Amino acid sequence: MKKILAINGGKKVRRKKFPSYNTIGKEEKRAVLKVLNSGVLSQYLGVWGKDFYGGEEVRTLEKEWAAHFHVKHAIAVNSATSGLFAATGAIGIGPGDEVIVSPYTMSASVMPPLIYGAVPVFADIEQEYFCLDPASVEQRITERTKAIIVVDLFGQPYDVERINKIAKKHNLILIEDASQAPGAAYQGKFAGTLGDIGIFSLNYHKHIHTGEGGMVVTDNDELADRVRLIRNHAESIVEAKGVKNLTNMVGFNFRMTEIEAAIARCQLKKLKSLLKSRINDIEYLTKRLETIEGLRPPRVRPGCTHSFYVHPILYDQRVTGVPRDRFIDAVKAELTPTRGRESWGPLISCGYVKPLYLLPLFQKRIAIGANGYPFTAPLYYGNVTYKKGICPVVEQLYEYSLFYHDLAKPPVTKKDLDDIAKAFVKVSRHVKELR
Ligand SMILES: *Cc1c(COP(=O)(O)O)cnc(C)c1O
Repeated sequence: MKKILAINGGKKVRRKKFPSYNTIGKEEKRAVLKVLNSGVLSQYLGVWGKDFYGGEEVRTLEKEWAAHFHVKHAIAVNSATSGLFAATGAIGIGPGDEVIVSPYTMSASVMPPLIYGAVPVFADIEQEYFCLDPASVEQRITERTKAIIVVDLFGQPYDVERINKIAKKHNLILIEDASQAPGAAYQGKFAGTLGDIGIFSLNYHKHIHTGEGGMVVTDNDELADRVRLIRNHAESIVEAKGVKNLTNMVGFNFRMTEIEAAIARCQLKKLKSLLKSRINDIEYLTKRLETIEGLRPPRVRPGCTHSFYVHPILYDQRVTGVPRDRFIDAVKAELTPTRGRESWGPLISCGYVKPLYLLPLFQKRIAIGANGYPFTAPLYYGNVTYKKGICPVVEQLYEYSLFYHDLAKPPVTKKDLDDIAKAFVKVSRHVKELR
């Protein structure tokens, strides 16, 4: 019998490539030109004084960002990774401490404790929403635990009600990695502002971007001050500024340029409308995909706005009779790559990231230097484990049941969305061909 699926030699659902992701318009070009014409591409100085806080664009962006997210302080940095380091330093993490982290996130969410000589401890995540599981977090708490780094994964806010309660009860500081969740919210309060200190990313792949960049937000004056110090050579500022607490006042250069800040100001104005169309597009797709047996598009946590950085979907092999990876290969064969990212093929991926504790760094316990620091640090009395099996939910999602696509980004059209849905429907209808 003639086979229908493209993976078996049939005709593809789509021939045209998906459009290249682009949110940059006239406004950004004009703003960048203005900075270029001024000749001052960054106004920072690593000494105490007015220029310690950067130039006009950076300082204006910080005011506008704080106003937009209803938070007291916004601090521009050159990436979310830098922002996470600065936040972790600011809260005073050091050798001997443990920080609870998620194994299902970009690795950048998990590295900052190591840089400060502390030990990341992985808790499992929720099967339903993919954020840190409060029950698992509570199990991992020891007398050494100082903080939790929560992640609003895929744009879904973490379980604020339960995790914040745990943090309060055990006197832990909450760092919120909201890199994937600008504009997401819990009961009307923005992701990024749900813990003690939050971080956004402005890299190319995020909802709004400046090429590379990040923002740190907090209502806490002291933390904000300490982040600004770490951002800009703290060690040579503290004396002149009269800073008494020297903990982690080891500075970096995490400064954002005037060009990036100018772009960020334009992009911030677009966030609301970009987010609205992203949510509409994902809801449209979800309606089409949720009728397919064996697929379960994401649920939004009650009381939350999800920002859908990507569109995660759960897959059930018991229903389809075909392993996830084979099903997805068949869907990808029906579709086309995204312009400019051809080598990746159609942007659908199985599993998201490998559970982070399985990275060589944790398996071999080689992080800072060659001798096992900080796991072997004299000040560290814990016995953390990174064995396979410690977070069964994550391992199950990674190996068998989660996939996501990154195809519903501007300037995606209804026709593009229809093609994505058609590819899934077609493979589902002819799934027998894959068995
Ligand atoms: C993108 C991302 C980061 C890192 O962002 P950069 O700005 O590239 O440093 C950190 N955490 C999460 C969850 C991310 O998605």
